[in-house]
Amino acid sequence: MKKDQSKIIREQAPRSTTREHSVPLYLTSSFIFDSAEQGRAVFAGEEEGTIYSRYSNPNTTEFINKVCIMEGAEDGLAFSSGMAAVFASFAGFVRSGDHIVSAGAIFGSTHQLFTELFPRWGVTTSYVNAVDNEAWEKAIQPNTKIIFLESPSNPGLELADLEFLGNLKQKYPHIIFIIDNCFATPYLQKPLQYGFDLSLHSATKYMDGQGRVLGGVIVGKQDLINELMFFIRHTGPAMSAFNAWTLSKSLDTLALRMDRHCSNALALAETLEEHGEIVHVKYPFLPSHPQYELAKKQMKAGGGIVTFEVKGGKERAFRFLDKLEMILYTSNLGDVRSIATHPATTTHAKLTEDERLNLGITPGTVRLSVGLEDKEDIIGDVLQALEATK
Ligand SMILES: *Cc1c(COP(=O)(O)O)cnc(C)c1O
Repeated sequence: MKKDQSKIIREQAPRSTTREHSVPLYLTSSFIFDSAEQGRAVFAGEEEGTIYSRYSNPNTTEFINKVCIMEGAEDGLAFSSGMAAVFASFAGFVRSGDHIVSAGAIFGSTHQLFTELFPRWGVTTSYVNAVDNEAWEKAIQPNTKIIFLESPSNPGLELADLEFLGNLKQKYPHIIFIIDNCFATPYLQKPLQYGFDLSLHSATKYMDGQGRVLGGVIVGKQDLINELMFFIRHTGPAMSAFNAWTLSKSLDTLALRMDRHCSNALALAETLEEHGEIVHVKYPFLPSHPQYELAKKQMKAGGGIVTFEVKGGKERAFRFLDKLEMILYTSNLGDVRSIATHPATTTHAKLTEDERLNLGITPGTVRLSVGLEDKEDIIGDVLQALEATK
């Protein structure tokens, strides 16, 4: 029995009659049938087969199979973007009158779904502080359909206790437990093993890891994936074959890349913790992180994001960001290149000051997605920008 990394690298769409070594790109909208009878049988689900690329395509299936190996999942679906996956994970299940319990610290667009879109369709959401184990059960109502969270959170890097939540699932088997596992990646964290029903990702981030394509993926329990399959067949958020081909290749190196993202990030976090111009640093694998023990238990390493507060508030943070030489300011993360952002005025600008402070986002907070450059150069750039803006 091969181990995971070998399985991932060896997973491939069925070889064609051309006997290619590397998988070809299947740019075709539809697939032919040998006979009218076969067309009937495949449509009826009696025979396996690809029909139309809105439903499935050899490249997307290969990509999904690799994510399933990583997460230990039964099956999955691929989407055109992370948000298409997030939206489907709710819209595929809820009915008017249903209720969602969500962590408060979630991706900005997911927050917009809960506050702006779902209320139009009679679906309500309660927010809890994901760190507070007791809060989850208190927020459950008779009409609660879904529990949703991210861990570690963005940009506060706070953790939800996955084992605790997996046990809560046992008590409420009818509620669907969903995690956006994007920040950790399936290499660092495997929520399905704790009993979560579905794990989803923006594949745009670490899975691609090279800032090229958008993508999303949901993996988990077979019956739920079947229900979602109906939703995506008829609403059309499918991932393109080209993006799937790109992302499938990227997954072959995810483990290697994550090891380096994490060691670079830890080195930066340790350096900044000692620095006089920094108020505080958050990184799950720093012993000063309030949930260090939990991080060690449920994550293989601390991830590639380091969040810190510079002295001097927004004005200093802006000067610091402008002084960075190698590290660019752009709203992506999980890239081979280190990226800096100012959450209070970008990703979290729509929140009130109080809501931001609740998430630990102060005017001086900087989020750094640590890339794969030499760690001396990443740390050196941050230190010179701190020095230059004293
Ligand atoms: C980026 C991101 C998303 C959205 O993904 P897109 O691919 O940009 O649509 C969702 N959740 C998290 C945690 C993200 O970082």
